[in-house]
Amino acid sequence: MKRLLTPAAAALLFIFGFTASAADGTFEGEAQGHNDAIHVAVTVEKGHIKDVKILKNFESPGVSDLPKAFIPKAIVDHQTLKVDRVSGATFTSMGILSAVSDALKKAGLDPAQFRKGEAVKYAVSVPAKSEADVVIVGGGAGMSAAVAAARKGANVIVLEKMPFLGGNTILAGGALNAADEALESKQKMSEGQMKLVEDVLKDKPRSELHKQLQTKISADYNAWIKAHPGVLFDSPEFHALQTWKDGDYEADLDLIYEMTKHAPETVVRLSKMGLEWHPYTSQYVGALWPRSHDAANYHSGLGYLNTYRDTIDKEKLPVKVYYMTRANELIKDNGRVVGVKAKDGQGKNVEVLAKKGVVLATGGFGANIEMRMKYDQLWDGKLDKRIGTTNSRAITGDGIPMAEKAGAKLVGMGYIQLLPVTDPTTGQTIATCEGTALYVNNEGKR
Ligand SMILES: Cc1cc2nc3c(=O)[nH]c(=O)nc-3n(C[C@H](O)[C@H](O)[C@H](O)COP(=O)(O)OP(=O)(O)OC[C@H]3O[C@@H](n4cnc5c(N)ncnc54)[C@H](O)[C@@H]3O)c2cc1C
Repeated sequence: MKRLLTPAAAALLFIFGFTASAADGTFEGEAQGHNDAIHVAVTVEKGHIKDVKILKNFESPGVSDLPKAFIPKAIVDHQTLKVDRVSGATFTSMGILSAVSDALKKAGLDPAQFRKGEAVKYAVSVPAKSEADVVIVGGGAGMSAAVAAARKGANVIVLEKMPFLGGNTILAGGALNAADEALESKQKMSEGQMKLVEDVLKDKPRSELHKQLQTKISADYNAWIKAHPGVLFDSPEFHALQTWKDGDYEADLDLIYEMTKHAPETVVRLSKMGLEWHPYTSQYVGALWPRSHDAANYHSGLGYLNTYRDTIDKEKLPVKVYYMTRANELIKDNGRVVGVKAKDGQGKNVEVLAKKGVVLATGGFGANIEMRMKYDQLWDGKLDKRIGTTNSRAITGDGIPMAEKAGAKLVGMGYIQLLPVTDPTTGQTIATCEGTALYVNNEGKR
């Protein structure tokens, strides 16, 4: 006897056309992410997605953390592939969704059936009003400030406009320049390097501080070459004057010296927090001396942020981060900055008040073409959209007009660094252009 489908059964089969032939089990799928293929394993049971696991991926740590955590969970919780891509990590988000779609096809399911209805959104809501001792805007250098303030007993709120911490900091190669006698003295000093020290000492002093630093370098250098002939010399004072000279003496020497004086302490402090340095220094692209420190347990500036995050967890420091919360104004009271106005991830206006102070750490403006064109003094109006940037797209100089509106004066805005170590078409940083390459113009002239 022939077995016929009842109309109801036929309708069910129509609706779950693919499901009927779908197999239960775990299926692997893959798709291109930002850096390489993303591999996932999807467990399917009776046409339902029971589990999504990311098996293998080479996405940039930090930037890809949120989509890797949020998207698989959203797919399972809402049985949908219609999940918002995480802003700033669009290719990773799309890669995960496409890899899951690939696995579903292998399970005999139709991915289109999982793309109906409203998209699941990733949005963070923060309290309309909150208060902390210290409020920090921007989570790159801001995280260093957060750890420092919290270790001194302050409770801290960090506002971060992206779904992850650290704009350029997590994209950076991560080299940290600091004079380091122990590591640098493993290297020989060439005649060219000796001449560079002598050149710095020959300069006519331009200020009292300049003179004092030259005097100290001269004494240290003479003592060093006597005691360690042929061994590389360095000192925070030499680091300061080299930096100042290389910037055509435009920067504030006091501030440069403050940085170079404390850079060696930063190396030690980070190491105590768990960052492992390579047991040697090198001269990174853009550096002026072989004093670049590189982490052994990380491949990028992400190491700094992870180290700060781990320290906050380990020491249970009172630091809260409001992600996807974009600061837009400083609040002033009686001439003092006492808080920040911002918009949270859901577009709601919020205020965060600071009892002891606000730290602005919103980074530079390399990804803001309008500001580049407005402030540039070096590149003859050429920094328009034709000039790509390796800066994070978060780096739009937000803190600068905020500070200006609160009464701050701007200095040094016109000195914009172009570093030709990237592919002009894709903007990717490429090592082949570094160090030993000669840069020539269209006529082959250096
Ligand atoms: C490709 C590349 C490689 C580099 N390599 C090196 C290197 O090897 N060594 C080195 O010393 N330097 C390097 N640099 C430079 C270095 O990365 C930067 O100088 C440094 O990271 C700047 O830190 P920052 O905290 O000031 O800014 P960022 O790390 O950019 O942080 C700014 C933060 O503020 C947030 N933010 C911005 N506006 C707002 C707002 N309105 N509200 C809330 N949050 C906001 C951003 O999202 C971001 O998290 C490199 C830079 C690039 C682009």
